[in-house]
Amino acid sequence: MFSKKGEFRDGIYLLNHPEVPVYLIRGKKNYLIDAAFTFMAPNIVGELEELGVEPHYLLLTHSHYDHIGATPFIRKNFPEIKVVASRRTAEILAKPKAIELIKSLEKEAERSFGEVSDLEFQPFKIDIIVGEGDEIEEFSVLETPGHTRCSVSFVFPEKKIIFVGDAAGVIEEGHIRPQFLSSYDQYVASLQKILKYGDFSLALGHGGIIPEGREFLENSLKKTEEFRKEILEYYEKFGDMEKVARKIYREEYEGLGLKQPKEAYMINLRAMIKSALNS
Ligand SMILES: [Zn+2]
Repeated sequence: MFSKKGEFRDGIYLLNHPEVPVYLIRGKKNYLIDAAFTFMAPNIVGELEELGVEPHYLLLTHSHYDHIGATPFIRKNFPEIKVVASRRTAEILAKPKAIELIKSLEKEAERSFGEVSDLEFQPFKIDIIVGEGDEIEEFSVLETPGHTRCSVSFVFPEKKIIFVGDAAGVIEEGHIRPQFLSSYDQYVASLQKILKYGDFSLALGHGGIIPEGREFLENSLKKTEEFRKEILEYYEKFGDMEKVARKIYREEYEGLGLKQPKEAYMINLRAMIKSALNS
């Protein structure tokens, strides 16, 4: 597992922070994948300037605040950059309520990282809307919903790497954590779709790059099924979603010592409980 800053191989870089990576591909063009938190923007831009890289594209895997935050500030520094995302991501970012939620989660994240920033998240325009099978320059697009309905993955066949955002789970404190927020069934189907690229490197939205994805993806599938089972068992026992949420919060969030903000964790957990009950 490559979970530090720097070059992974062949012009593929992990920038910013392994827990909230911004990936860079230097190919015929330069591509950034995801944009972390707003308050990390000066750091991201600084690293790009240090490398002397002008990015041509910024590919967004999904609309979550910890993947898009620095986008408007990256564009300010690199005005020619083209922002690429799914149609649903564009639709979500057009909603004032979503923008308010992103701003409030962003400020909570700042506090939990012990940062103070006077930057505030701003809505931005998507330049290129992509969907299943689209091919642009050196990458192609897979729709991989289930984490969110807006999730897409980006495949770079020549570099043998796939960027999946949170569609295949994340690694936190050394544990694989399932992320089926919008639909359990779609999440499993997306994991199986990504498994077709099992011999590619797998770049996660949190944790870093796995040199060859297959084993991780198989484990992630297993964990996903186990987590669903656990939720259903607790629900059977307690008959109440909020009690299930509190039980898992104590076991997982406190038990593993997760560092992500509690508010975001609880929003995601409640969504996963709903997905499991609807599966
Ligand atoms: Zn996410």
